[in-house]
Amino acid sequence: MRGESVVVVGAGQAGCQVAVSLREQGHRGPITLIGDEAQKPYQRPPLTKAYLAGETDLAGLVLRQDSYYEDHGIKLVTGERVLGVDRSARVAVLGCARTIGYDHLVFATGARPRPLPIPGAEHVLNLRSVADADVLRQRLDGQVGLDVVVIGGGFIGLELAAVVRKLRHEVTVVETQPQVMQRAVTPETARQLVNRHRSEGVQVLTGRGVAAVREGLVELTDGTVLVADLVVAGIGVLPNTEVAQRSGLATDNGIVVDAHLRTVDQRVHAVGDCARFASTLTGGLTRLESVQNATDQATCVAGAILGSAEPYTALPWFWSDQYDVKLQIAGLTEGHDRAVTVGDPAEGRFSVFCFRGDKLVGVEAYNKPIDFIMARRVLEGGNTLTPEIVARPGFDLRGSLQRAA
Ligand code: NAD
Repeated sequence: MRGESVVVVGAGQAGCQVAVSLREQGHRGPITLIGDEAQKPYQRPPLTKAYLAGETDLAGLVLRQDSYYEDHGIKLVTGERVLGVDRSARVAVLGCARTIGYDHLVFATGARPRPLPIPGAEHVLNLRSVADADVLRQRLDGQVGLDVVVIGGGFIGLELAAVVRKLRHEVTVVETQPQVMQRAVTPETARQLVNRHRSEGVQVLTGRGVAAVREGLVELTDGTVLVADLVVAGIGVLPNTEVAQRSGLATDNGIVVDAHLRTVDQRVHAVGDCARFASTLTGGLTRLESVQNATDQATCVAGAILGSAEPYTALPWFWSDQYDVKLQIAGLTEGHDRAVTVGDPAEGRFSVFCFRGDKLVGVEAYNKPIDFIMARRVLEGGNTLTPEIVARPGFDLRGSLQRAA
């Protein structure tokens, strides 16, 4: 297999990791990593945290130093878009009809902010890229007390609200669902997050959407009008599937791949936010948006290109930092039918164990990093915890594992 050429379309966390893992696993052939952003591959998670707060700069975000790519024979192309892939000729097509041949091609095209379908959406900022974060930083810089409206109470909205509040601006979060982070967390965890935001002076409005944005004003669907110097949306993302679709590959809320992250074309894989894969965990097609998923899928595909037959089985995990709250989620809690809270939420340290039937499917650890570490072990290994065991007075995850060992 050595010596074959690999083209990676997309130079985010997943794309960069494909190139890195290929070299780490001994691939000797040419690797070309193509991204449409101007910057070299960088981490996105700090964009809503330290980068927005001005505590780190771009140099602190880069995934690899400049010299890494040259030293490892990785041809990094930035500021360029792959427009199409001709699978029969095995070439990726760039602007001005330039082509790059490949033996293997990996789509790591990521996702883009979901557009807000309302009048005045052109006044609304997004936060996905470092360029977006720079615009936001410029608008907030050197001022305090601006009225900032955040549309969407998900990962981006709540992390952004916490940082903007710390920068001493007035913040209102508007969320259409009755609960914030409804897609990702249980009602107990959502309640504690909202309490925390409110105690910091953030106004959180749930169960209503935004009808229109006009210069300086945001009109909500219940008739409320908010004053806004700045409006930012984090209402979810859409996977970037167009190039794959044009090349004749199946797409359906993501580029459809099997448990080996392979499309119907043996030479084409997809990884990260853009990939909808046959999950060994859920038994269905799943698309995940997380750093863990991006890096672990990239490592798996690098192995596949080098001849491994291992499917993708990594346990998903997620995290969010808001003020001094560290929320860590192990496993996939979606579709759980029973949740048991361990610890006292009022004390700001607890875990929620989520079960489907009697099977533990995920754990939310709210300022309980030890539970997160232990939960990953339980979910990856012999998972024998039941709701009854967890609900016993005095239950302690670490203690129960030590006793079982
Ligand atoms: P999200 O899905 O986490 O949250 C979107 C929220 O917007 C949801 O609560 C949804 O109900 C709400 N919403 C949808 N339409 C709305 C509307 N019209 N008005 C008001 N609310 C609306 O998505 P996100 O926060 O945009 O994050 C985007 C991506 O970035 C995700 O993939 C996320 O995983 C990733 N991200 C992750 C982290 C982290 O892991 N800590 C941090 C930031 C971003």
